[in-house]
Amino acid sequence: MDDYRQISFWFDSLEDATAEVTALPETVDVAIIGGGFTGLWTAYYLKKKSPDLRVGVFEAETIGFGASGRNGGWCMGAAEGVGDLLSKEKTRQEGIRLQNILHDTVDEIDRVCQAEGIDCHFVKGGTLYVAGTKEVARQHQEWMKFLQEIGFSEDEYCWLGVDESAKRIRLSRNYGAAYTSHCAAVHPARLVRGLADAVRKLGVEVVEKCPVFEYQTGQLQTGRGTVTAEKIVRATEGYTDSIRGNSRYLMPLYSMVVATEPMSESRWQEIGLAERETFDDGRRAVVYGQRTRDNRLVFGGRSGYYFGSKRKPVISPDAVAVQNVANEMRKLIPAVSGIEITHGWGGLMGVPRHWRPCVSYSNISRTGWAGGYTGEGVGASNLAGRMMSDLVLGEQTDLTTLPWVDDQPRRWEPEPIRWLGHKMVAFFAHQADKVEAAGQKSRFWGGLFDRLAH
Ligand SMILES: Cc1cc2nc3c(=O)[nH]c(=O)nc-3n(C[C@H](O)[C@H](O)[C@H](O)COP(=O)(O)OP(=O)(O)OC[C@H]3O[C@@H](n4cnc5c(N)ncnc54)[C@H](O)[C@@H]3O)c2cc1C
Repeated sequence: MDDYRQISFWFDSLEDATAEVTALPETVDVAIIGGGFTGLWTAYYLKKKSPDLRVGVFEAETIGFGASGRNGGWCMGAAEGVGDLLSKEKTRQEGIRLQNILHDTVDEIDRVCQAEGIDCHFVKGGTLYVAGTKEVARQHQEWMKFLQEIGFSEDEYCWLGVDESAKRIRLSRNYGAAYTSHCAAVHPARLVRGLADAVRKLGVEVVEKCPVFEYQTGQLQTGRGTVTAEKIVRATEGYTDSIRGNSRYLMPLYSMVVATEPMSESRWQEIGLAERETFDDGRRAVVYGQRTRDNRLVFGGRSGYYFGSKRKPVISPDAVAVQNVANEMRKLIPAVSGIEITHGWGGLMGVPRHWRPCVSYSNISRTGWAGGYTGEGVGASNLAGRMMSDLVLGEQTDLTTLPWVDDQPRRWEPEPIRWLGHKMVAFFAHQADKVEAAGQKSRFWGGLFDRLAH
């Protein structure tokens, strides 16, 4: 692929969406495989702390080709698995510590963007978790109350009643909304490409069009030759099984997204989102949206898995799964009726077997990896990058004792069990959402979903 504009609206709106082919270094101190947020944040903090270190980022396609250049642009102060830590008394204090560090992570990203001149349209307008059913409203209200009881403030987490929620966003199903201030809307491709420019300026060798086929202690085999590396970090998320010996660690799960044409101010007054809040509607099959700086609506939904972990470099806007997301958007936000959808695309999330992130580095093999954000990595990858840089440099810090460190998932089941398992989870989610939409609790289907999906 030469021009990457087709991979997402975000890429299509870049001034330059091409790869720059530079020489392959023979030797580096730290080799990072993957030029998404995780790889680049790791490179950034390594070079900031240790400017003489020779760091190389090896990217199969172009910077931001993966989820980092295709996502919904929610830069969240949250991550998968934190809720579980908070729920259990035994792990609550660790959960609170991690949650607070994740909150600060959103501000850290803003700080770096300002320091490095990265204009990624960052606006911290918070998130509205609108309840699309009474049952979800009950659960959200309970969760907001719980978060306040364990010490988070009302400014950070609060419940908005039906009227207040409708003032912020007009969805067809609105039973109130849980609001958190800890989220910013960003243009993800501008963030990831800007970050690559920043690390290049720090002296990192960013090598695009350079797939890594295999690695072992001290060496990488790439499509363009062998590289010697003292230390190696893998940051390949949903593409991890493209490297020999790394299959079944992270399940590549698709999420599909659409973008509308820019809409007029009067249309936006009908919809809401005056503060550029991000939003979802509480269903298990997660949908998400943001108002972009140029007044489009970007709307996505988690979608599916292809047998054998098959990946497609580009998802056509005409694909059924993309059209389904467009239809959901029209049902949920009636005010977009008659508005043209200009872009449709898909991207891969990386899902580990235990559904929470991991940052791991071994001083024995001198290799490590970070990822497994399950669709919540825009903010979390910054924290993972800071943690990984500490681990690689052998520093013991507050971050190297966080629960993500070395929290290794087991591998996913072989096919066809993996595919069947995914189908079952999707079915349970659908059934549970249907029962709740009819105004009832869904202990049976919801319970099955919770058991399998976490
Ligand atoms: C459609 C979609 C919507 C999402 N929305 C949100 C959201 O709103 N908020 C949020 O927090 N998270 C969201 N996510 C998740 C988030 O985008 C990811 O968690 C995050 O971008 C992961 O960054 P990464 O660098 O770990 O992985 P990636 O961005 O996937 O980067 C991995 C890189 O590695 C490269 N690579 C892979 N294999 C090799 C190899 N063998 N050799 C060399 N290079 C290789 C790939 O080309 C890719 O560029 C979404 C994900 C998707 C797909």
